[in-house]
Amino acid sequence: MAVRPADITAAIARVVGALKSPLGLHEPDLSEAEAATVAECVESGWVSYGGRYVDEFEDRLSTVVGGPVAATVNGTAALELALVAAGVRPGDEVLVPAFTFAATAAAVVHAGGVPHFVDIEPERLGVDPIAVDAYLSRIAVGDSAGAKNKSTGRPIRALVAVHVFGHPCELAGLADVAGKYGLILVEDAAESLGSRHQGTHTGLFGAAGAFSFNGNKIVTTGGGGAVVSRDADLLAHARHLSTTAKIPHAWEYRHDAVGYNYRMPALNAALGCAQLDRLGEFLAAKRELAERYSAAFAEIDGVSVMAEPPHAESNYWLNALILPDVEGLLEDILAHNHAAGYRTRPAWTPLHTLAPYADCPRMELPETGRAARTVLNVPSSAALGCRR
Ligand SMILES: *Cc1c(COP(=O)(O)O)cnc(C)c1O
Repeated sequence: MAVRPADITAAIARVVGALKSPLGLHEPDLSEAEAATVAECVESGWVSYGGRYVDEFEDRLSTVVGGPVAATVNGTAALELALVAAGVRPGDEVLVPAFTFAATAAAVVHAGGVPHFVDIEPERLGVDPIAVDAYLSRIAVGDSAGAKNKSTGRPIRALVAVHVFGHPCELAGLADVAGKYGLILVEDAAESLGSRHQGTHTGLFGAAGAFSFNGNKIVTTGGGGAVVSRDADLLAHARHLSTTAKIPHAWEYRHDAVGYNYRMPALNAALGCAQLDRLGEFLAAKRELAERYSAAFAEIDGVSVMAEPPHAESNYWLNALILPDVEGLLEDILAHNHAAGYRTRPAWTPLHTLAPYADCPRMELPETGRAARTVLNVPSSAALGCRR
């Protein structure tokens, strides 16, 4: 039987309740603790880079993640620094999924690289290691010491894995492909704070990773991000670059590289300290909400809800329905949901179809196209879940 838009809207309503005013996709959850910590920061007078809040935020984040971190102004800057610190050089091609937020590709371009778009697999919506391996075996020359694109002659230096909507992608398979072609594996973990792959926190699996603390992520600092890496030297280099590459000294201005001004300000870090204290609460609420979505949609044939992959722990940041691939169905459902006040959204426009990336190299992208036609994100704020 065909899926009816009214049934989708009704199932969402059963999960999140009837509405008095429109409900957004993801709203920050801010309590008095956040207000108090930000006020303390203001009173301290250290609202910019000095004072204790940035260090404290990094300490707490590093405890959550299990590795060293460097806090930045946003997730895009963190990913750019992760790429540069991990060894991406101007003119390098960097494999990135076409199915991701535009910032993933923008960070590659800002680092001087050329995005080279690859396809995803349909379960976790992350980069497909099997398809990418087959593709590289045709278009690349080289081995574990490094690969080149046969047709452009440029090095294919790195692969960015994205943990879409907080679900860890196929990291083990991607690490194998990276090893085979000498690619640096970098993780865009912007959406996956709290998500783990075989017990390891996302971001720590590859050479380096990036988190985002934008207002719509599971933990927010207003705007913010962090670089993470198991490699303490790489991480120290990323932090050094983020703070104008200035050699620490009481009065001298000496910079040993062209640096960036990408350090997270203390005001944002103060908000983040209070938010990180509540991460456990948010994770529990989101898991409970995801269970309710999964139960509500179990009754609707042809529609599934993205779930935690095997050997992984998802933060369930943003719930996603996978609809049947039927012409016009996604638009009909969006219109129906919006009319009822549920601000559901399709996933991203595939990046290779956007003007700034139209000329980038790419493989065939059938699953990216399918995901763009069939994925629907539904309201997922932590406040909608029950904290246990
Ligand atoms: C949010 C996000 C980013 C960018 O983070 P900002 O903090 O907004 O710069 C990058 N990649 C993905 C997949 C994201 O969801």
